[in-house]
Amino acid sequence: MLVYIAGSGAMGCTIGYKISKNSDNEVILLDYWQDHIDNINNNGLTVKGEFDDNIKIQAMKPSEASKKADLIVVMTKSMYLKDMMEAISHLIDENTQILCLLNGMGHEEILKNYVNLNQINMGVTIWAAALEEPGSITIRDIGTIDVQNIGGNEEAGKKVADILNEGKLNARYDKNVMYAIWRKVMVNGTMNSMTALLECTVGEFFAIDAHERIIDELVKEFVEVGNADGVNLDKKEMLDYIRETSKAAKDHYPSMYQDLVERNRKTEIDFINGAVVNKGKTHNIATPYNEIITQLVHAKEELNDAK
Ligand code: NAD
Repeated sequence: MLVYIAGSGAMGCTIGYKISKNSDNEVILLDYWQDHIDNINNNGLTVKGEFDDNIKIQAMKPSEASKKADLIVVMTKSMYLKDMMEAISHLIDENTQILCLLNGMGHEEILKNYVNLNQINMGVTIWAAALEEPGSITIRDIGTIDVQNIGGNEEAGKKVADILNEGKLNARYDKNVMYAIWRKVMVNGTMNSMTALLECTVGEFFAIDAHERIIDELVKEFVEVGNADGVNLDKKEMLDYIRETSKAAKDHYPSMYQDLVERNRKTEIDFINGAVVNKGKTHNIATPYNEIITQLVHAKEELNDAK
């Protein structure tokens, strides 16, 4: 099988590394960062953390790739997914499956413009990685991946899970992946956005008096919109999950904090809190807490001229 990773940052390189290292599938990393591409091609992809390794793997720009793909794992940041799909459309035919593991939700609306629904596999991953310098990633933990073909093509979705498992990525076919996606979005939509706005760790946010009210209001909106959207969500279950997750992450600065505060980069807010605002509009449900959080994060991006 020919597997492209479209967007080979920390997470794209993690998936590409694992599949290339552990299976017979051919993996090609696609990216735009020339120094990163050159370092990988000249010196191999260096992997630190859970795995101490250096592997030979091909990297190139999307325009330099030509062979049709069996599987494309899209791993850009959410706001660049559309541009990436445009750039890789020549690699896709009716036999190509797409796997989307981006944080946030609503990406399938973009993917639907390029492939049929039965070629789209949505997923959620708790692998964690960082890209500290071009050509070198750190894989922080051993994770898992949940995946489902959202066009009802279970056979294709299970094949995607098999490829991931050949790569020892701990994947499982999930018949209700939207539940897992919404649950993760709620974690990101509470912890990530608030720590990025308040510039604190998860633990520091959870020690603030107002945290309970803020989380309660955000989750109430998520649950109401999710249920209207056909995903069966229980507010207490979500609040318990967020609280549990926060304990393990108490000393962490989540990825949105790192993007916005440490690296002055734009965030995925429109696909997290912003996504529930948009979906709320289609269901006629007001989402004032998520709306203000989305606007505040954008205001901070604008104020700091985030790139
Ligand atoms: P990333 O920031 O590592 O990479 C995203 C893109 O930015 C890549 O194309 C990369 O080459 C480019 N890039 C990174 N640093 C750059 C620099 N200094 N100069 C030029 N280009 C640079 O993003 P990621 O963490 O791999 O995230 C991809 C998706 O996966 C997102 O939706 C994210 O939310 C999700 N995700 C990430 C993790 C994680 O632990 N990293 C975990 C779960 C989900």
